[in-house]
Amino acid sequence: MTTTITELETRERLQPGLASSSMLWEYAPSLESTDHVRVAPRYELFIGGKFVEPHSGKYFETINPATEERLSEVAEADAEDVDRAVKEARRAYEKVWRKIAPSERAKYIFRIARLIQEKSRALAVVETMNGGKPIKESRDIDIPLAAAHFFYYAGWADKLEYAFPNRNVAPVGVAGQIIPWNFPLLMAAWKLAPALAAGNTIVLKPAETTPLTAMLLAEIIQEAELPPGVVNILTGAGGTGAALVAHPDVDKIAFTGSTDVGKRIQRAIAGTKKKLTLELGGKAPNIIFEDAPLDQAVEGIINGIYFNQGHVCCAGSRLFVQESVVEPIIRKLRERIGTLRVGNPLDKNTDVGAINSRAQLEKIRELVDSGVEEGAEMVQTQCTLPSRGFWFAPTFFTGVSQSSRIAQEEIFGPVLSVLTFRSPEEALEKANNTPYGLSAGVWTEKGSRILKMAAKLRAGVIWANTYNKFDPASPFGGYKESGFGREGGIHGLGPYVTLS
Ligand code: ADP
Repeated sequence: MTTTITELETRERLQPGLASSSMLWEYAPSLESTDHVRVAPRYELFIGGKFVEPHSGKYFETINPATEERLSEVAEADAEDVDRAVKEARRAYEKVWRKIAPSERAKYIFRIARLIQEKSRALAVVETMNGGKPIKESRDIDIPLAAAHFFYYAGWADKLEYAFPNRNVAPVGVAGQIIPWNFPLLMAAWKLAPALAAGNTIVLKPAETTPLTAMLLAEIIQEAELPPGVVNILTGAGGTGAALVAHPDVDKIAFTGSTDVGKRIQRAIAGTKKKLTLELGGKAPNIIFEDAPLDQAVEGIINGIYFNQGHVCCAGSRLFVQESVVEPIIRKLRERIGTLRVGNPLDKNTDVGAINSRAQLEKIRELVDSGVEEGAEMVQTQCTLPSRGFWFAPTFFTGVSQSSRIAQEEIFGPVLSVLTFRSPEEALEKANNTPYGLSAGVWTEKGSRILKMAAKLRAGVIWANTYNKFDPASPFGGYKESGFGREGGIHGLGPYVTLS
């Protein structure tokens, strides 16, 4: 069965008797200005400190997923370009970066952090235009956190002997880093900052649908006067990533993306000396006990799955509710998703922006259809979606069985599956019953229960009475098919050092 939540229903609830008054519920558009933003018509590859044409001469279009309008075109790097970039990174590593005083390395990284802060408005607007996420997310979360990561790891550059006491710490060498489209600049910061602090040089590949903030970061890196070749940025699709993984002179691969590609990368480097860290998919459980503050929990669920269109690998996409509070939780959830504003990501009032690409939208639709076919009950907001671009209305399913696809597979969209439990043991068993293990949320007033659940949940990150909170000092990463290795905190330095 499918139910839609109409705007009238939501209005009637909020202002009984006045539902039809158009005065009540209108938001005046509050668009972030794009006048100050300069997007070049074309971006080249960033190799050896310069912007250079791709060997193939090929470029591909990058669009705004909220309008399908072309924003720019970017170069497509092939194996020759990968080789050029790796050679530059190797030269910079041997001749400059591994040799300079760690406190000097720190100065460059601090400079990048400050430049990100200075240009934060433009970076936020471009992130939103190229990725589809609401401006309030890119402005308040992605860009400040990206700067914070550079600040944090700049601080470690000359203190590595304290991070790894009584050990000799050396860099690994040349790192190949491949990132996805859900947090383009933030993922670049997560990867670049610890690698640079530990003395490595880098070839970074952003995702094919979101290359623009990486190219603005290349400009920042140039402006920060980082020695040429220390950071190289190659745009391209899966083939470019595969060429980087296969290059014999890369010492370490760091990958964030789908579990399928992660497995492929693992196979490709098996038997080589390359180090590897993988941050892959997730199907995070959010567990609400009957003693939890229910309004706060519902707000956490909304934040965990609908803000950012569910485009977060740690999104709380499975909600486990203790049976005694199922009724109020479903009611509150239904009321709250009715008030989410879906639309122009550049509008400061928007809660749910555009889906990142047509391919992603099709994946979401396919999985949602499978949920309906498998007999779950779907509740969806009936909002007026823009006629162009890629959109999906906030949705949740009740009556979901553990084995159904919507309870097992990563949807990566604003879609929540609600399941129930009676005892903490049942919650644990169901929550852990997935191939993934990236993150989890626990909502209860009892501190002891939080600790007990946290000890038994097989997830790299567990939030208690909150969700989706990040800090550069705190490690992030998965268990099982969610990958291995940690990013953030002292743990995030580990993959970029060799210890003796
Ligand atoms: P998502 O499903 O999140 O788009 P993908 O795993 O497809 O994730 O993509 C994440 C990143 O991996 C992107 O930068 C993409 O270009 C890159 N990529 C895709 N296929 C490969 C591959 N075979 N080898 C290396 N990188 C790849």
